Amino acid sequence: MTYDNQNIFAKILRGEIPCIKLFEDAHTLAFMDIMPQAEGHALVIPKEPATTLFELSDEAAAACMATVRRIGNAQKKGLGATGIVLMQLNGAEAGQTVPHFHIHVIPGSIADLRRPHATALADTAHLKAVSEKIVASI
Ligand code: AMP
Repeated sequence: MTYDNQNIFAKILRGEIPCIKLFEDAHTLAFMDIMPQAEGHALVIPKEPATTLFELSDEAAAACMATVRRIGNAQKKGLGATGIVLMQLNGAEAGQTVPHFHIHVIPGSIADLRRPHATALADTAHLKAVSEKIVASI
């Protein structure tokens, strides 16, 4: 699959548009989802350009999982989450809306994910307040 370097996460990685950052290392970036399906909904992306899991290198996939663990642990500690749902969509046919590989890290239970996917923008001040609790627990 050809990678579109104008996708919104590529722009976030280049610093062309802002994000509410949670964590960054040499290979990954974690930030708040602006249309969360639950309180504390975060995204982990690789810096490597890849549209889906099937184009991503093994090294970048491993780096993403390490960051997912870090964020999930911080959601547990900082938000008191006892369950963490991971979601990862590959291809528009699967419902993927941003064509840069990402893993959704969502505190709560699959049974609570009643908010529709990628639809309602959350209040930025509220997202920042939630992000601070996660960041403080990383
Ligand atoms: P997917 O449909 O799996 O590709 O998920 C893309 C996710 O990115 C959705 O949950 C959107 O709410 C989220 N999203 C879209 N634009 C942004 C943005 N600028 N900053 C943070 N999250 C975003």
